[in-house]
Amino acid sequence: MTVDFFKAKYGYEIESVWLPRVTAVTSLVSKSFLFSNQGSADWGTLVHTTIERMLKKEAVEALPLIQPSLLAFSKWQKEYEVKIIDPYAHVEKRVYDMDAGYAGTVDMVAEVQGVVGVVDLKTSNGMQDAYFLQTAAYLNAYNKGVSKKEQGKTRWILRIDQYQECRGCFARKKEKDGTQRITKGKASCNHQWAGAKGEVEFQELTNQEKDLEAFLSAKEVWEWSHRDMLRKIANYPKNVIQKVLV
Ligand SMILES: [Zn+2]
Repeated sequence: MTVDFFKAKYGYEIESVWLPRVTAVTSLVSKSFLFSNQGSADWGTLVHTTIERMLKKEAVEALPLIQPSLLAFSKWQKEYEVKIIDPYAHVEKRVYDMDAGYAGTVDMVAEVQGVVGVVDLKTSNGMQDAYFLQTAAYLNAYNKGVSKKEQGKTRWILRIDQYQECRGCFARKKEKDGTQRITKGKASCNHQWAGAKGEVEFQELTNQEKDLEAFLSAKEVWEWSHRDMLRKIANYPKNVIQKVLV
């Protein structure tokens, strides 16, 4: 791997320094990262980009494949009185913490039932440990960049999924990226699938301090495991500081 490839794959250039991205660090504890090389046009990416466009009030193509997910998202917005104060600034927001030396992109900074926080959108099958570290890092970095009054108080995971249910045995079928997964129900049933339904799971993550601490420890391990490459990055903050000290 060349230094340039490494820099593009794992980080961002911000204010003339190179910072690793949050998801590069949290890939250390993420199970799905290993299996996520499906290319950029997969179902989850489509849901993500379409929702982001909807929130920014950009024109969105009607896509029957993800319609149930979009409806579930809109229902969630209404039910939880979700407000995005400035969609252009608060959707896909780049955040960074120069002192801790990392950067990331927050899906949404939102007010949910009167509380401001960061929302991370997921299209995976369930909760993962990496989400705790990831959102802690996002909330911390977001708060570094705004006034005390604007700071977020919490973080949430919004998981969106869609499935078809069997009219007979209530088995659930999920069809994504060309693979089929059937859960629950009866194996002996000759399933009759109803139309696709979307669902959301909305969860607040507490323990910000502990999770941020764990993220920063994970970052130390990530740096260690990439030490040879990081040494070659002239504008990596730690290299700059070392040169000043020497
Ligand atoms: Zn069935």
